[in-house]
Amino acid sequence: MNRIAPNAEVIDLRSDTVTRPTPAMRKAMAEAEVGDDVYGDDPTVNRLQDIAAEMLGTEAALFLPSGTQSNLCALLSHCDRGDEYIVGQAAHTYQFEGGGAAVLGGIQPQPLDFMPDGSLDLEQVVACIKPDDPHFARTRLLCLENTQDGKVLPLDYLAQARVIADKYGLGLHLDGARIFNASVKLGVRVTEISRYFDSISVCLSKGLCAPVGSVLCASSEIIAKALRWRKMLGGGMRQSGVLAAAGIIAMTEHVEHLQQDHENAQRLAEALSNIADLHCDPDAVQTNILFVEVKNGLRQNLVEKMQEQGILVSGIKKPLRLVTHFDFKQEQVERVAAAFSHALQAS
Ligand SMILES: *Cc1c(COP(=O)(O)O)cnc(C)c1O
Repeated sequence: MNRIAPNAEVIDLRSDTVTRPTPAMRKAMAEAEVGDDVYGDDPTVNRLQDIAAEMLGTEAALFLPSGTQSNLCALLSHCDRGDEYIVGQAAHTYQFEGGGAAVLGGIQPQPLDFMPDGSLDLEQVVACIKPDDPHFARTRLLCLENTQDGKVLPLDYLAQARVIADKYGLGLHLDGARIFNASVKLGVRVTEISRYFDSISVCLSKGLCAPVGSVLCASSEIIAKALRWRKMLGGGMRQSGVLAAAGIIAMTEHVEHLQQDHENAQRLAEALSNIADLHCDPDAVQTNILFVEVKNGLRQNLVEKMQEQGILVSGIKKPLRLVTHFDFKQEQVERVAAAFSHALQAS
């Protein structure tokens, strides 16, 4: 991917990871009280972990450098070598994490297609739980994702997943990279989602604007295991209170703003749905992620033609994925729509 120089004129819709730390975050980072976190001595990291555990309603929490490492530590903590986790075919924890669970943990994935609403069909989940037989891997964990491509899992579905997990003795992990987008969309406290899970991974570096980091929230037992794995994976950081300081602001001050991102996604979808050559369904947009299809297939060089106009969109997925975030403002909706019109005319 081309490297893009920081530039106020560029509108970057590739992901909500592109947000830069706010002035308040930079100030908190500069002033953060720190210590050596590998010794457990960093008061700012400890405070972030306490806040995360409190907000998610778990016994403990652990600050990690990335969501990928957080999910991996969770999988390694739930499963042993020769165990299996059930996961979405298109899930981040299966498709986008380099096969880490299999490579580093000897943990076999059992992928299933996501349903159109982002859930896994629980009948299919049950059907692929392996019997206790030396032919098979031991099915140990069910891993869900919320939001999944911007879609929010219904609370009653989560309750059903918990029942299945209990019935079959499975752990239940949530890749909740965007769990706060889900809670804001549902208008519930995040504990109404997290309470069903044994472990939850939350990204601070997406819509919540922190520059770096995720928190894994779970029981003290799981977190004690995850702490070991984090060290082994090279994620034991030293004066990481500098990063955690931004994470604290992310968790305590940025959740409410996600509502604005959702409204901007809705506005953007409406503007794009008015362009004849584009297909974009505003009713399908639940949170901050929208998908846009060019009616006659993906026009050649559309991503490049948008880039020439200072608009960055992700061309990895087809249809195109656009993600709104703190650094994308309502006033920019029209400019993005105009750029699409222009790019399509020019093609
Ligand atoms: C971004 C993301 C992750 C991982 O985050 P990184 O910090 O980029 O490693 C995990 N799951 C989902 C669904 C994500 O969107």
